[in-house]
Amino acid sequence: MEAKRCILCERALTSDNNSAEHIIPNAIGGRKKVVGLICRDCNSDSGSKWDAELARQLESLSLLLGITRQRGKVRAQTFQTHSGGSICVNADGTMVLGKPEIQETTTGTTTRLRIRAATKKQVRQALEELRNRKYPQLHGLNMDDLLSTAQDQSYYCSDPMKIPSAFGGTRSGRSLVKSAIALVYDAGIDPRQCDLALDYLLKDGKEACFGYYYDSDKDLIINRPSRLPFHCVYVRGCSEYSTLVGYIEFYSLWRVVLCLSESYTGSDFTHVYAVDPIKGEELDIEVKLDLSVSDIREAYDYKLYDEAAFFDAISIVLSMVREIDFARAKDRATQDALETAFAITGAKEGDILTDEQLWDFAGIIAAELVPFIVTNYADHFPEALQPRLFNGHQ
Ligand SMILES: [Zn+2]
Repeated sequence: MEAKRCILCERALTSDNNSAEHIIPNAIGGRKKVVGLICRDCNSDSGSKWDAELARQLESLSLLLGITRQRGKVRAQTFQTHSGGSICVNADGTMVLGKPEIQETTTGTTTRLRIRAATKKQVRQALEELRNRKYPQLHGLNMDDLLSTAQDQSYYCSDPMKIPSAFGGTRSGRSLVKSAIALVYDAGIDPRQCDLALDYLLKDGKEACFGYYYDSDKDLIINRPSRLPFHCVYVRGCSEYSTLVGYIEFYSLWRVVLCLSESYTGSDFTHVYAVDPIKGEELDIEVKLDLSVSDIREAYDYKLYDEAAFFDAISIVLSMVREIDFARAKDRATQDALETAFAITGAKEGDILTDEQLWDFAGIIAAELVPFIVTNYADHFPEALQPRLFNGHQ
């Protein structure tokens, strides 16, 4: 159905100002778009005001889960660790030190400085700062000579990261509500039927038309994928009660119920859009939203917020983060080990190796994989085997 006029500013939609609006913002991995709902200006305004705030609040998860977008990569982010350090995670899951780590050990009259940083440039900056502020005797040393002794090192970090997670506020709330309206429109229903939702988008000071939903006894998703992060928007129109209600879930974690209208005049319908934000593929998710409008209104006052269910949701998404991180680390370790074995033996892909060369090759791969194996599987090995793992193939 053509909206004819932009639902946000009421300007007539023409071929010049019509726009394609993502039902779920592409910044968090949404793909499907609707055309004929909002004008280009409102698309860009609501994108920068509302969707950008929602994306910012979900950015840590977008990065750690390795989602993909149609345009642009998820930005690298720096996380604090529990012991006060910092780690920068890149879009491909690789990690580097967030800020240089400086160790000063003094014995007698000698001070030993150890600087660890992501790049040589950062080591130089840290060294210059130490020279200017604390150790003028460093002036006598040649920086380039000192830096040429620096070594590349990679290791597995055992210091847990703190993942910030805060969700809420009017701006990201409006992005959620806009997603629900876009889906109503995608179902072929006049989006102006969403009167309560539109009031919330357009009028300041209006009561939010949604609330958090966490219930240990009742999951509104019938076929919840346990090991796949997903986004889902669901809407339902009910002619008997004249209601338009909805349910939104992002990253299996943020779950809200919405009431878009209590004066709906259309016929019964349900419509759902769910997406795997990593592959961008649509998912077949079944939602059963059998809550009355008064139930949903309870959610507005946090009355449907069961803390135990919320923590369950957190542990689900964190286990997904761990699983994805493990898979990426395994791929990297295997690829690095192969490259090292090729480099050391001088073998090329497709070469036929003698038995002896083959043993060398396999030995190098095994040795290179030791840090990964020890970090991830040490607990699984009998104790007697562990020293061999550490000492084998130096
Ligand atoms: Zn507009």
